[in-house]
Amino acid sequence: MWTPETIRNDFPILDQTVNGRQLIYLDNAATTQMPAPVLEAMTSYMLHDHSNVHRGIHALSERATGLMEKSREYVYSFLGAKGTEEIIFTSGATAAINLVARSMSFGLLEAGDEIITTEMEHHANLIPWQEACRRTGAVLHVVPVTKEGELDYGKLEALISRRTKLVAVTAVSNVTGTVNELDRIIRLAHDAGAWVLVDGSQAVRHGMLDMSAMDCDFFCFSGHKMMGPTGTGVLYGKREVLEQLPPETFGGGMVDQVFTDHATYGDLPFRLEAGTPNIMGIIGLGAAVKYLTDLGRDEIVNTEDRLLSLAEKELRARPQIDILGSPVKRAGCISFNIKGCHCYDTAKLLDQLGVAMRSGHHCAEPLLTAFGETGAVRLSPAFYNTEDEILEAMKALDRVIRLIERTVRK
Ligand code: PLP
Repeated sequence: MWTPETIRNDFPILDQTVNGRQLIYLDNAATTQMPAPVLEAMTSYMLHDHSNVHRGIHALSERATGLMEKSREYVYSFLGAKGTEEIIFTSGATAAINLVARSMSFGLLEAGDEIITTEMEHHANLIPWQEACRRTGAVLHVVPVTKEGELDYGKLEALISRRTKLVAVTAVSNVTGTVNELDRIIRLAHDAGAWVLVDGSQAVRHGMLDMSAMDCDFFCFSGHKMMGPTGTGVLYGKREVLEQLPPETFGGGMVDQVFTDHATYGDLPFRLEAGTPNIMGIIGLGAAVKYLTDLGRDEIVNTEDRLLSLAEKELRARPQIDILGSPVKRAGCISFNIKGCHCYDTAKLLDQLGVAMRSGHHCAEPLLTAFGETGAVRLSPAFYNTEDEILEAMKALDRVIRLIERTVRK
């Protein structure tokens, strides 16, 4: 059995000083670090197998294709999908959501249709729907968030109707860490005949993944938030739903036959993967999935929940700190402000003390606005963080608080 202390050896990047202090990396909701097996899988591919996939019949191309398709198999069983054709590789969650939104606006949406999203979404799960509605004349509804940082389920129920074509919702907020009641949302949407797209970016490390149990129509995430490389991501879709999506990007790799005046398109998943994919990245993503699977989902979730609870308890013990939201269930991250101190100042001062935390609106401006804030500091642990690191980060925060109090008193 591993512990955060032992697992750290897999993450050489964590062993460094920043501004003369041992790095404490607590910005995992933005990007997680890659373990040695992921780096090795990508290096080995680049050294021995680098080539283009699906097109050549020479040895390198066949090896590259085999490695990439092995990653698809890892992802398919990681997600509990019904087949590898339900796994579309993208460059990230943003690209996955844009793929669905753009594709739907090529004939699946029309004036009078409705899309529902929420006030707590990352911009990546809001703006593509604004644009799809603008182009098609469909109407976008946005479910508000309560002061606790929960979705207003009453409002959601009132908004869903036979006109609703799709509900786009995050599994976990990337600001408050609120865990949404996906079962309830999916049931409501399906009763009305609507599809559901779940943005799983902040949930992939948190065990909310079983597609057959979840029954959503689409699920997406980015590789770099689950120990994989940047520039990789996944769009899962139920086969019967993906089959209804017209391709929205055209070119090599996605066709069946091409004539000068028209083309016919290939089968899933390739129909939705035009162009040369990020082969090295996808191989790294597969290695990350294997790494997480080997560590064990329950162990990861328990470790991260324990670290987050400790951080929340410590933050709540400091009267100078305002925490954004108090959801019933929180996962992955918690955001806060020191009273009277801009979040950028707090994060910059923490950085001087070796502590990496994100600050700003976290690409969720409507949610920050709902809380009456323009920004916040976000603490997001991963399973390689230790309780000592959380406590050290709190000591650093205390130094920042003392500095602010001295400055204000002057
Ligand atoms: N959705 C959520 C909830 C996120 O937290 C993020 C990234 O922070 C994204 C979408 C966008 O991910 P990417 O920029 O990797 O496409």
